[in-house]
Amino acid sequence: MIIDGKVISQSLKDAMKIEVDALAEQYGRRPCLMVIIVGNNPASRSYVRGKIKATEYCGFDGHLVELPEDCSEATLLAEIDKLNNDPLVDGILVQLPLPKHISEDKVIAAISAEKDVDGFHPENVARLWLNQHCILPCTPKGIIELLDQAGVEIAGKKAVVIGRSNIVGKPVAKLLLDRNATVTIAHSRTKDLAAVCREADILVAAVGRAKMVTAEYVKPGAAVIDVGINRTEDGKLVGDVDYEAVLPVAGAITPVPGGVGPMTITMLMRNTIECFLNRMNNK
Ligand code: NAD
Repeated sequence: MIIDGKVISQSLKDAMKIEVDALAEQYGRRPCLMVIIVGNNPASRSYVRGKIKATEYCGFDGHLVELPEDCSEATLLAEIDKLNNDPLVDGILVQLPLPKHISEDKVIAAISAEKDVDGFHPENVARLWLNQHCILPCTPKGIIELLDQAGVEIAGKKAVVIGRSNIVGKPVAKLLLDRNATVTIAHSRTKDLAAVCREADILVAAVGRAKMVTAEYVKPGAAVIDVGINRTEDGKLVGDVDYEAVLPVAGAITPVPGGVGPMTITMLMRNTIECFLNRMNNK
């Protein structure tokens, strides 16, 4: 089974569009997401375009704030402070990576935790690991949603996550654990990675190396979630999984593009609605 992130994402966005109209009726305003981009990184520009498009599609308020590449850290922090204090703004996202002269850690921590739609703020990260109410990071949240929508059972299953980054690997592992999977986090120092992965009923690859996960990594019938985004020499977008080789072995698989990527943006929309509701209901 191919898990079509595009189709699932579209139906979730359609439902949110209706929900947002109802929220506007009920609360007298729409959820508002502000996206900040610094500089002209082409990949970042393209990601931001997708986010703004989804914002418009779902009927949110908000827009893009564009700052030049040589914008100082102080200017960016002042912009964030202004949005933190704006009662009509529900979500703030600063597109990463930032130019070298700006501290990403400082910027992430400067966004008010209640408006942190990316779920990167240390307070939200801590709350996630403490099982407290928090804003979940979008990509891990989207992966769980994909598994649920595809009818893949998580509880009692063995999951292997390749990659231990703060934005993907670790939080995905935590969310799978919270759903009662038995989770192994594999990484660049894992010995005999293929054998470790072959144990998995659910295999999540979040590495950033094209076609690294071959058929020998996959237990027959396993669900394979490909988070990786890589460009081949001829400019083609591919994941971490050798899709053609793994497709006949896997029980379910996400393609790249069209798998986890669209879900990440859709979960950003979901988080914006949640931030709006938390703020309106003063949770
Ligand atoms: P990262 O570079 O922070 O982490 C990569 C992880 O892979 C590290 O923990 C490292 O230990 C592990 N690793 C590296 N080489 C390895 C090897 N040979 N064997 C086993 N493990 C190895 O990256 P990240 O931010 O977690 O992103 C991972 C990938 O997911 C990237 O391709 C990124 O572009 C993509 N990504 C996609 C989305 C999406 O929406 N689809 C969102 C975020 C990241």
